[in-house]
Amino acid sequence: MVRTISLLGATGSVGASTLDLVRRNRDAWHVEALSANCSATELAALAREFGARIAVVGDESCLGELRAALDGSGIEPAGGAAALCEAAARPVDITVAAIVGCAGLAPTMAAVERGGTIALANKEALVSAGEVMISAVARHGATLLPTDSEHNAIFQCLAGSNIEDVARITLTASGGPLRTWSIAEIAAATPEQAVAHPNWSMGAKISVDSATMMNKGLEFIEAHHLFPVGLDRLRIVVHPQSVIHSMVEYRDRSTLAQLGPPDMRVPIASCLAWPGRMDTPLAPLDLADVGELTFFEPDETRFPATRIAREAIEAGGAAPATLNAANEIAVEAFLAGQIGFTQITAVVEETLGRYSASAPGTLQEVLAVDCEARQCAREALESCALV
Ligand code: NAD
Ligand code: MG
Repeated sequence: MVRTISLLGATGSVGASTLDLVRRNRDAWHVEALSANCSATELAALAREFGARIAVVGDESCLGELRAALDGSGIEPAGGAAALCEAAARPVDITVAAIVGCAGLAPTMAAVERGGTIALANKEALVSAGEVMISAVARHGATLLPTDSEHNAIFQCLAGSNIEDVARITLTASGGPLRTWSIAEIAAATPEQAVAHPNWSMGAKISVDSATMMNKGLEFIEAHHLFPVGLDRLRIVVHPQSVIHSMVEYRDRSTLAQLGPPDMRVPIASCLAWPGRMDTPLAPLDLADVGELTFFEPDETRFPATRIAREAIEAGGAAPATLNAANEIAVEAFLAGQIGFTQITAVVEETLGRYSASAPGTLQEVLAVDCEARQCAREALESCALV
């Protein structure tokens, strides 16, 4: 049976992993929509290869280039934020939400509001919208399939179980490329060093988030929304080998873990085939070859991001959306060479201190908080860059 799929963020790292799986099962899928921000030529080539019905660039200024690249293909070109949401709202069997950042929130919500099945990689959307997204999922009868590897692991470990029986959920963290560095070394980390992840190959933003441990902070908030066991039942453990992707401990003290190679095609395949299974091209996991699995407590002195994220979700209201917005601005500034590595979390904490708003109750309110918090983060950035 042919299934239909839309892929938001087709030109990214998760996008490429998804398309690799689709390419290997070409006859099993019909591709409806593919999107990118501005890489129009690359997007057009993918749309042609997969016979997509529509290709959308988020940045409308790239629509001309997309139109030219799709000329004669019969594929509909579209551009801009509204077109992206329209494409995301088209009926399909599964939507893969793989845009990076809060930019993916509105299109993801469009798929949610249609009552679709969404493989959610775009954690920033859920961190920012929180309850607004979760309640929309319930109201519209949508299904969220967690694609982030940790959350996909938890989802698999919870299958068929009662959430009330869960004693504890443990998110594993690789610790990132700077895991063993001293405070002084961390402060001097360059963008090249920060994006050089030891286990995973990912987009630049999430790679920096992994280095600061903000990725785990965002994932802590993401887990809180996806698996409502209460914040006191969520913990983080550093596990440098990235073989155990997360664990669920039940009240009888039985712990279930999901293991696999550190390759996003595993959790993506789990979502694409859910509730069934499909083949992936990956080598079998050889534990004798891995040899050792080790675990450490997170060090929040060298990496304060998980503490900042935990405080933000405990505070609730607009704080998680503020945290995310400030982090996006700070990571961008770090990658552009404007601030040092340690200033990323400093800007986030400074913004959380400066900006407050009442709890957003609608998508529009979440987007307004995101916009205002970004402005505030830019101001915090200026004072940071001056010291
Ligand atoms: P990436 O930077 O490689 O790709 C991002 C995609 O989003 C690209 O297609 C880009 O064109 C598009 N995009 C960027 N800005 C946009 C905008 N303003 N409007 C519309 N489209 C835009 O990122 P990635 O590493 O693939 O990550 C995607 C998401 O998945 C992120 O939320 C990330 O946290 C999450 N995630 C990634 C991985 C991974 O292994 N890469 C693992 C878990 C979760
Ligand atoms: Mg993850």
